[in-house]
Amino acid sequence: MNLILFGAPGAGKGTQRGSLIDTYQIPAIATGDMLRAQRRAGTALGDQVTSYMDRGELVPDALMIDMIKERLQEPDARTGFILDGFPRTVAQAEALDATLDQLRRRVDAVIYLRVSRQVLIDRLSHRYSCRSCDAVYNFTPKQALEVPRCTVDGGELYQRPDDKPEIVAHRIDVFLKHTAPLIDYYTTQHKLENIDGQMSVEDVRADITRRLSALKKGAGSR
Ligand code: AMP
Repeated sequence: MNLILFGAPGAGKGTQRGSLIDTYQIPAIATGDMLRAQRRAGTALGDQVTSYMDRGELVPDALMIDMIKERLQEPDARTGFILDGFPRTVAQAEALDATLDQLRRRVDAVIYLRVSRQVLIDRLSHRYSCRSCDAVYNFTPKQALEVPRCTVDGGELYQRPDDKPEIVAHRIDVFLKHTAPLIDYYTTQHKLENIDGQMSVEDVRADITRRLSALKKGAGSR
């Protein structure tokens, strides 16, 4: 399966991708995590993208497209992938289609997690991330008074600078302006699975599983 997890920041993409990895045994390719790893490692690319990320702006298409082209050709991505955070512009989506075409592959489904602006803002203001592995946690205001360590690797949990309220509002605007046009792009390709991302984590997971099973069945009977 070649999947795209699609939605605004805070829509629940990171939360849902774990169960997709387990179910389909394919890697998640999360461009935000990849960029943060570059920053932690202090690479030239990491330096180049820092100011865009901290301001909540998109990193230029050319950088993102080069990064994803290389990643898609690594051995673990040959049997499938879950893209999280890419594509974010029509130019990125077109470049992805062209790259997959060359590899004689295609996107099978785009899972769009639909969430209202207010819910996105509420969620992101309670979101903590692990400094070393990027695992994400949502705490209630009470839980946030005593933030534990990451349960994956014991790393320190922190609030990402771009999860601050003024940057969050800008990231949502950037999503609406540059990324939301992909809803039409993938609807035209009959690939969009439009899911209510405000249901419980379990209900969203069940809806995704049901739709992907139906797709697989459909593909099998063709
Ligand atoms: P995320 O972790 O997906 O919220 O991404 C964090 C930040 O990384 C974004 O606000 C952008 O600055 C940058 N970024 C991640 N993916 C992309 C992309 N596909 N295109 C442009 N910028 C990106």
